[in-house]
Amino acid sequence: MERVFGRPVVTQEQMRARIREMGKQISTDYAGKDLVLVGVLKGAYAFYADLARAIRIPIRVDFIIVTSYGSKAKTSGKVKLVTELTEEIKGKDVLLVEDIVDSGLTVQYLVKTLSKRKPRSIKVCTLLSKPERREVEVQIDYEGFKIPNKYVVGYGLDYQQKYRNLPYLAVLDQVDEEA
Ligand code: 5GP
Repeated sequence: MERVFGRPVVTQEQMRARIREMGKQISTDYAGKDLVLVGVLKGAYAFYADLARAIRIPIRVDFIIVTSYGSKAKTSGKVKLVTELTEEIKGKDVLLVEDIVDSGLTVQYLVKTLSKRKPRSIKVCTLLSKPERREVEVQIDYEGFKIPNKYVVGYGLDYQQKYRNLPYLAVLDQVDEEA
C-alpha cells in the first residue's frame, strides 16, 4: 500500500528554533555539573545529534537501545533494554534523550532501571509528547512539542524501520495493517 504523508507536523525551522532553546536551557541548568546525555536509540538519534550540538557545556555522550514496539505501528506495552551504557552513571547527572513519549512506559521503565545505578540525578528530555496517549504518569523535564494522537515518522522516527531519514516530521496517514 502506498504511504501518504500529510503536512509536516513540525517544520524544520520550528524544530531548529526549539532545539536551540532547549540546548540553551539545558546548558544553564547543568552548568558546572557532570552531565551524561543518554540517547535512547534508535528513534532519538537525529534529535540527539542536534540537541548535543546546541548544548554549550562539556557533556558526556552515551546511548542505549530499547525496544518497545514490534514491527507494527502499535505498542506491545513491553519495554526491553537491548544494549548497555558504556560508562558508569553513579554520581553523575543523567539526562535521558527520547524521540517521543507516547504511553510513557518506556520512560517509566528507563528511569526506574537507571535510577538503581545511583546517578546524582536523572531527568527526561523528549522532542515530542502525545499527552492523549499516556497510560502511566511520567515527569518530563524538557519537552520540544506536544503533538496530537497521530503516528509520525521522520527525523529519527520510523515506520517498520523506514523513514527515519526524512529530514522533517510527517504524519503517516495510511498504515498498512497487513505489514
Ligand atoms: P511509549 O513507551 O511512551 O509508549 O513509546 C515510546 C516509543 O514508542 C518511542 O520511543 C517511539 O519509538 C515509539 N512511538 C510512539 N509514538 C510513535 C509515533 O507516532 N511514531 C513513531 N515512529 N514511533 C512512535
